[in-house]
Amino acid sequence: MLAGVIGWPLDHSLSPAMHNAVYQELGLDWVYVPLAIADEVGLRRLVAAIRSLPFVGFNVTMPYKATILELCDEVATAAQVAGAVNTVHCVDGRLIGYNTDGRGLLETLQRDAGFDPAGKSVVILGAGGAAGGAFVALILARASRVTLVNRDVGRAEELMERMATHSSSIQVEALSYLEAEQAVREADLVINATSVGMRPGDPCPIPGEWLTPRQVVLDMVYGTSLRTALVTCGESVGAKTLDGLGMLVCQGATAVDIWNAGSQVHTPRGVMLDAARAEIALRAAGEVRAE
Ligand code: NAP
Repeated sequence: MLAGVIGWPLDHSLSPAMHNAVYQELGLDWVYVPLAIADEVGLRRLVAAIRSLPFVGFNVTMPYKATILELCDEVATAAQVAGAVNTVHCVDGRLIGYNTDGRGLLETLQRDAGFDPAGKSVVILGAGGAAGGAFVALILARASRVTLVNRDVGRAEELMERMATHSSSIQVEALSYLEAEQAVREADLVINATSVGMRPGDPCPIPGEWLTPRQVVLDMVYGTSLRTALVTCGESVGAKTLDGLGMLVCQGATAVDIWNAGSQVHTPRGVMLDAARAEIALRAAGEVRAE
């Protein structure tokens, strides 16, 4: 069977290495391929073809997590509210959409930081697909207050409105960066769900002095051998910091759990993490050689 990831660009993707390693470990006769698609016309053609090809499922990454939602035959409620699908299960030619980013986030918070969002105050920087998945997951996990901070505040407000009927007992707000200092200082958890940090030399998305030692700071950005500015700022104030690798592994493993549901086997996260780390090290060595 085939599996894969659709996105553009895909050069940075660690998913093929992570998935193929775990398929081998589980003895699954599957292969995971990168499907770099430059535009929506290509996306629609590919998705139509996938319906008649032996795909068990596929992941979707930037910039197609919202568009793919419209192309699925069925979409899980959490993914609908998030406005983003990152995992599709192919069942008898039908496409069923899920959002495993949110579940991956909760799993890594619990496993890697011992953090339970119930009753906690959270700030999410960003209002795109990744922020949507995080927002829904944190509401379902009963955070007491969730603040969305985005450059385009209207986009954060739209996300908040989609969630309105599901979050009546939870304090939610959408702020600009200029209004966000107090919310960040008071937060138990600060999450970067923007793309700031993906390029070497990117600044910290908020002033580092807003962070405090009692916080957990999670940067969803992953795949670089260097720490992002947010993780560095968090470390320097003594906060507990996580990069995006743990979440990446957990969302990918959750996708395999969905595709392989019949087997009742829990996908081993450690195998995927080791494969992702090995791939990052390989790329870093390649970059050093190229200099
Ligand atoms: P997206 O839908 O394109 O959203 C991008 C977000 O970044 C938007 O909120 C955008 O704000 C904000 N942004 C972009 N440039 C900015 C800048 N210069 N200053 C401030 N904000 C800026 O992307 P996405 O799918 O949500 O992904 C966001 C990040 O999360 C990426 O780095 C991605 O790799 C990462 N991610 C990680 C995982 C994981 O498993 N670790 C999973 C999913 C995503 P506007 O709305 O104002 O443009």
